[in-house]
Amino acid sequence: MTTTETLDVQPTPLALLLLGRESDPRSERGVDCPGDLPAPSDPNLVERARAAKARLGSKVFILGHHYQRDEVIEFADVTGDSFKLARDAAARPEAEFIVFCGVHFMAESADILTSERQQVILPDLAAGCSMADMASAEQVAECWDVLADAGVAEVTVPVSYMNSSADIKAFTGRHGGTICTSSNAERALEWAFAKGEKVLFLPDQHLGRNTAVGDLGMSLEDCVVYNPHKPGGGLTVEQLRAAKMILWRGHCSVHGRFSLESVQDVRDRIPGVNVLVHPECKHEVVSAADYVGSTEHIIQRLAEAPAGSAWALGTELNLVRRLAKAHPDKQIVFLDKTVCFCSTMNRIDLPHLVWTLESLADGKLVNRIQVDAETEHFAKLALEQMLALP
Ligand code: SF4
Repeated sequence: MTTTETLDVQPTPLALLLLGRESDPRSERGVDCPGDLPAPSDPNLVERARAAKARLGSKVFILGHHYQRDEVIEFADVTGDSFKLARDAAARPEAEFIVFCGVHFMAESADILTSERQQVILPDLAAGCSMADMASAEQVAECWDVLADAGVAEVTVPVSYMNSSADIKAFTGRHGGTICTSSNAERALEWAFAKGEKVLFLPDQHLGRNTAVGDLGMSLEDCVVYNPHKPGGGLTVEQLRAAKMILWRGHCSVHGRFSLESVQDVRDRIPGVNVLVHPECKHEVVSAADYVGSTEHIIQRLAEAPAGSAWALGTELNLVRRLAKAHPDKQIVFLDKTVCFCSTMNRIDLPHLVWTLESLADGKLVNRIQVDAETEHFAKLALEQMLALP
């Protein structure tokens, strides 16, 4: 469980958190920004952010996830994926306030990996992750009971993607599993299969399937999908016993949108284009692409690509636009015709950042993300196992 420190805000049952307001208690997201946000039209926002950051000096360290808006990235002390950012924060013990411009599970991971005197802050508590929300602690505990009833729990090793709540990471640690990122999922699965006969992969079915089939050479028939909304996960005991990969029915709402048609369409529009996608995309999309890789891999590959080459990227749009700007000598386009930002990542905007920095500079701790000690202990076990992967 995670606790948050905010002013007097009452949760509401709204599932849609309009304009960064209100809350959804069933979500990994917390509650809304309780203070008075500066108006987005305030012409002094950039100046205000600079001034507040300067007032805080080395006490504040701002982390910017690759999928954040330009207006926020401009103030980040470091950019990266969620795991890199959490480690960067831990390597800055003098920074008392870690402002995480990303989503809720990332701030939790940063809290787990940083020291006790560092306080992690999420500028908008409504910035959650729909994928992380697809696996709750109760659902996963129920799934483990289903596996136990089928007689397979003791030969199953849980492997959880970094993009999961602290509760799910703790479940993974409790049951001797590991966390993985999209960069080390192959090594995580190899480790898990050396330890057990089956893997329960949480919460992104696509990363699990793409890694098992694409990297480990399994067949699609080796994989089954556990649906937490159906009794017994919608699977028979025989299916559970025959499967090697038990994939949680979760997905990323951004990467899950790319389709086979979008790949075909871009190949028709741009002859010779290189299609490069993230492994959170559907298996059919990954199979039709030329290359697949994590966000860091995508950035690296574009940096090394020859001038004049053409690339269609299947990942979040803020990043694609920044890469296109950074490499004017290459043609870089978004894989889909439809504009698709990560809406929860986009909740962190300049007004929220200004409000956060000014509050901290005025001595007011806001939007702290704090993982309780027991959850932290077990989640850390799973994260440390990832660091120890061969
Ligand atoms: S891009 Fe996908 S996985 Fe990442 S925060 Fe958004 S919904 Fe979650």
